[in-house]
Amino acid sequence: MLTVKAFTATSATDPLAPATIERRDVGAHDVLIAIRYAGICHSDIHTVREEWGEITFPQVVGHEIVGEVAEVGSGVTEFAVGDRVGVGCMVNSCRECDACKAGLEQYCAAGNTGTYASVDHDGTITQGGYSTHIVVDKDFVLRVPESIPYEAAAPLLCAGITTYSPLAHWNAGPGKRVAVVGMGGLGHMAVKIAAAMGADVTVLSQTLSKQDDGLAFGAKHYYATSDPKTLKDLRNSFDLVINTVSAPLDFDGFVRLLALDGVWVNVGAPAEPISMRVFSLFNNRRSFAGSNIGGIAETQEMLDFCAEHDIAPEVEVIGADAINDAYERVLASDVRYRFVIDTATL
Ligand SMILES: [Zn+2]
Ligand SMILES: [Zn+2]
Repeated sequence: MLTVKAFTATSATDPLAPATIERRDVGAHDVLIAIRYAGICHSDIHTVREEWGEITFPQVVGHEIVGEVAEVGSGVTEFAVGDRVGVGCMVNSCRECDACKAGLEQYCAAGNTGTYASVDHDGTITQGGYSTHIVVDKDFVLRVPESIPYEAAAPLLCAGITTYSPLAHWNAGPGKRVAVVGMGGLGHMAVKIAAAMGADVTVLSQTLSKQDDGLAFGAKHYYATSDPKTLKDLRNSFDLVINTVSAPLDFDGFVRLLALDGVWVNVGAPAEPISMRVFSLFNNRRSFAGSNIGGIAETQEMLDFCAEHDIAPEVEVIGADAINDAYERVLASDVRYRFVIDTATL
């Protein structure tokens, strides 16, 4: 066992605090990563506050992890000490079901093993990236291209792949009108990636406060949804909508923005069930869909795509002592656009 520094949640209500945790010995197929940066995802907050269900404490969260390979197991030939690597939202899956065989480990029939707060195949509870080191099966380790700075690469492992996967699956590209709802951590990456894919991108945000950013990130159009005219004027306008908002929306009003055969994809998730009239889907043969992160091969494809197109998340690097404040600022949407923890401060 390796004892390493971490920033830990001890209950659903107490602030996170420094502690040490144990990492397993490096097995034949494992990679030990010295973590350099870890992004703060809204899911981290939902999880430690038990808003998505009970968890076992103490719990370290964080699933946007980048760092350097510090040691490899005897059966690992794909990675060497010093390689720039990353870990996203999953660290294991069954490898045998149809989804796993298709490279869609996120949809593993047995359930993928999350990077934190999941039961791993050895029975332990996974501990995430707010930590100096992590031991991960080589099949769930990604290569981080040299051209992407470490701190900016971290949020690609969740926010990047969560938006890239549906954009790729539903063929965002030249001639496609793509709307992104919400301009937070996920939304700003959806804008950058969709624009790099060649789509005509529109941002639908509550206000126009981030309009300059949105246009700089590649959006052609930007509308405030607080203006009642927006939903009316934009009816039947989009081939694909990526909804990154985790608050309830006027879904009946919003899905009517879809043009013929348009698809609405949810990647943000309100805690409560949503309400919508099915009639809103009938016209234009609209689809209402969801999407969950992306497979390992697709995550690598996304990292390489971002390097090739010179795009990366906008980040604010913080020290460990600012994590609890950062949580409050995430909840207040007061971040442009992702907090990233410098793990040297743990
Ligand atoms: Zn996440
Ligand atoms: Zn599987």
